[in-house]
Amino acid sequence: MSSTPLYIPVLEERKKFKDYRQGIWGDSFNWYAERAWDQIKHVVIHHSVTNPTSDSKSDVDYIALLHKNRGWGGVGYHFIITADGMVWYVGDVSTMRANVADKNHLVIGICLVGDFTKGNPTDDQILSAHDLCKYLLFDTPSIPNLKDWGQLVGHKELQATQCPGTYWKGVGDSVYERIKNRIPYTPQTQPEPIIDWEKRYYGLIEEKKGEIDGLTGQINTLTDELSKIQVVLADESLGCQAKIEKLGGFVKEEENEIDEDIVEAVGTLKKLLEFLKGVFKHDEKN
Ligand SMILES: [Zn+2]
Repeated sequence: MSSTPLYIPVLEERKKFKDYRQGIWGDSFNWYAERAWDQIKHVVIHHSVTNPTSDSKSDVDYIALLHKNRGWGGVGYHFIITADGMVWYVGDVSTMRANVADKNHLVIGICLVGDFTKGNPTDDQILSAHDLCKYLLFDTPSIPNLKDWGQLVGHKELQATQCPGTYWKGVGDSVYERIKNRIPYTPQTQPEPIIDWEKRYYGLIEEKKGEIDGLTGQINTLTDELSKIQVVLADESLGCQAKIEKLGGFVKEEENEIDEDIVEAVGTLKKLLEFLKGVFKHDEKN
């Protein structure tokens, strides 16, 4: 089983990324074969030639159903981008899928829902396709041979097909240029926010200042208490040592006293013994 979870900060920020590998019909993790990371040379754009609805999940499931009906074991793309700009991660990037005949080991396949022989991708699709492709081309160290916008190709560049539509590349207003440069069709009234991570980090610290200060206060209090306990322990230790020394002194004094008494007693007993011996000798003579 191959599982390659992806975290793409800009898509997470825009809430435009769904890991749908478990939910979609078919085997997203094994079908139809693994390939080495360094084999991957292209990110390929497709169009689905299906009609977008207001229910983007059902649009994704419908594409899976078409692939099921072809007798495949899983959906043929790695990603599907619905009209609302949601990026659905449907086939693990470590596996080959089925979207460019004979070249599946070389590609990561992205399908945009819609028919671009008749219309254009939505603005949200352009923005999300840019964010996803930029990530795959430049921010995935595990895929060593993707590193240039030139490696973003339309299906028709690798195979004789109309996919992904009339205005892919080499025309005045090309889908490729819009994806590469992140230019939606409708001029944006508000520019897309550029995420300043440093600013967010400090913002978060500012926001959590109360909590952080509280914790710092608690840590300081605990540190104070700890040093107080250490002082008490040190005092106790000194006290104990003094007591031990004092006791040692008593023992020594007692020892000395006992010694002297014994010596004195023994001396007295000896004298008494000599005296008694003298008395008995005297009696024997008489
Ligand atoms: Zn295609």
